[in-house]
Amino acid sequence: MTHLFNDPTTFMEDALEGFLDANASYVAGVPGGVVRATETPQGKVAVVVGGGSGHYPAFCGVVGPGFADGAVVGNIFTSPSTDDAYNVGKAAANGGGVLFSTGNYAGDVMNFNLAQERLTAEGIDTRNIYVTDDVASASVEEAHKRRGIAGDFVVFKVAGAAADAGYDLDEVERVGRLANERTRTMGIGLDGCTMPGADDRLFHVPTGKMGVGLGIHGEPGIAEEPLPSAAVVGEMLLDNVLAEEPADSSKRVGAILNGLGATKYEELFVVWKTVAGLLRDRGYTVVDPEVGELVTSLDMAGISLTLVYLDEELERFWTAPADTPAYRKGSAVAATGERRDTSAAFAAAAEVTEGSEASRRAAAIAVDALAAMEVAIRDAEQELARIDAIAGDGDHGRGMVKGVTFALEAARPALKAGGGIATVLGAAGDAWAAKAGGTSGVLWGQALRALGASLGDDTDGVPADALAAAVRAGAETIQRLGKAELGDKTMLDALFPFVDALERGLAGGAPLATAWSEAAEVATTAAAETAELRPKIGRARPLAERSVGTPDPGATSLAMCTRVVGQLFAQREESS
Ligand code: ADP
Ligand code: MG
Repeated sequence: MTHLFNDPTTFMEDALEGFLDANASYVAGVPGGVVRATETPQGKVAVVVGGGSGHYPAFCGVVGPGFADGAVVGNIFTSPSTDDAYNVGKAAANGGGVLFSTGNYAGDVMNFNLAQERLTAEGIDTRNIYVTDDVASASVEEAHKRRGIAGDFVVFKVAGAAADAGYDLDEVERVGRLANERTRTMGIGLDGCTMPGADDRLFHVPTGKMGVGLGIHGEPGIAEEPLPSAAVVGEMLLDNVLAEEPADSSKRVGAILNGLGATKYEELFVVWKTVAGLLRDRGYTVVDPEVGELVTSLDMAGISLTLVYLDEELERFWTAPADTPAYRKGSAVAATGERRDTSAAFAAAAEVTEGSEASRRAAAIAVDALAAMEVAIRDAEQELARIDAIAGDGDHGRGMVKGVTFALEAARPALKAGGGIATVLGAAGDAWAAKAGGTSGVLWGQALRALGASLGDDTDGVPADALAAAVRAGAETIQRLGKAELGDKTMLDALFPFVDALERGLAGGAPLATAWSEAAEVATTAAAETAELRPKIGRARPLAERSVGTPDPGATSLAMCTRVVGQLFAQREESS
């Protein structure tokens, strides 16, 4: 259980404030995360790591000399937003470019890629490495689809040490990618974690069983098996990791036996005894093993074994000293630079340009629509969390509530300041993406922005077919960013049928409210029918089979939003 919290919705912010206070000599807060408290040498590559929270010491705990320059901090188990990554990258950059590195999750990939585009456009050379160490999450043939778990730590450490050693951006990227290619992890889950404020674990592993191939976001394992002795667990993990040993292996390996948060250090040492013995028996030299909690998952019980197959260069960076809030190794690397001024990272709010009368009228309707969506999403929060926890990570309800709430909060003042629909939905979309995080957060955010932009601030009217075209522009934006196809079991499986039906209805002469409501019914049916599909993309993909029988959370919430907006249009039509 998570016992100690104030307001569950601000758990992460509260924790970050306490973390920053306790580690003020190491780190300073900036919007979206943390950076080193002291200046780094001009021209040094900035290694910026990140991801959702709930994994301490990953990721903010490893910011400091010998390791990362900054960490982007998302909500619990939720990708940080594009703004977050951009802000931390910008604050950490010091003339040598930025290397972002996060685990390979759709939400993180989209947000960090967008942040990379923005930084590059401003002349800051930026690269991305998405860590793919988890052998259980996809086959060797699809190794690029694997997710990042405790191997994050290896890649971040190697890249961070290389940057501190004076490597340039190309070289830091090369050695970081090499570390990722040569790092493998396999884990087991013994019990699920509890989100702050929740009264039960996200999932349970029955007593006497283990979930093989756990994730670090409460994703359960891919198979449930009887729990054998610690020695058998150790051997099973090792065999799975060694199965992919590179042909040119030097037989020198770095190792992490990682605890997920609720497994005692003593248990880890019991397992390590077996793993270390077997490695020696099989002719390996273990270099600087780490046995402890390095990438956790709140109070999840479970462990994972990571090996990195070392060459001379990787070994140098794996063993290099580091001095960070949560991880200290070797000596004499304490920061010596001046205290960093982070005030410039807090940018001023953008000014609102006035929209045409028709555009402002449309913006007012959009604000009403967001308000209606907020009510419906709040009502459905628990149900959306439940269906997302079956094969995903259970955050969809919370993410949608946060997204729509902050979108509305940003849209209202933009409307009041005279903004047209592009401005108002742009502000709403940015706030949605910034506050919701996650895959659906960035997609909803960018889709709302695209929808508004398609109508424009200076339009002289919003006919129904222009609205349909704008919704299609939103759908296409989601597809461009997320690269999902129809049938991949995502929100697009509700959204495209919706747009098609809306266009058909309008072309057949139906008034907007009628065509929209009929299309919302089509979307609702389509969302329900996603229950039959297997997810081919996103966080639920590794657990595709388990997801069969449950509809896609993102499609379900999207269909719900189309229904409430339909009701709003119907009411407006009646009262006009
Ligand atoms: P996360 O998966 O990061 O935890 P959420 O739980 O908020 O984010 O949202 C999950 C939903 O996001 C899925 O149910 C699916 O509808 C949608 N989704 C995931 N990946 C994609 C993608 N590549 N394209 C479109 N929608 C996606
Ligand atoms: Mg989720």
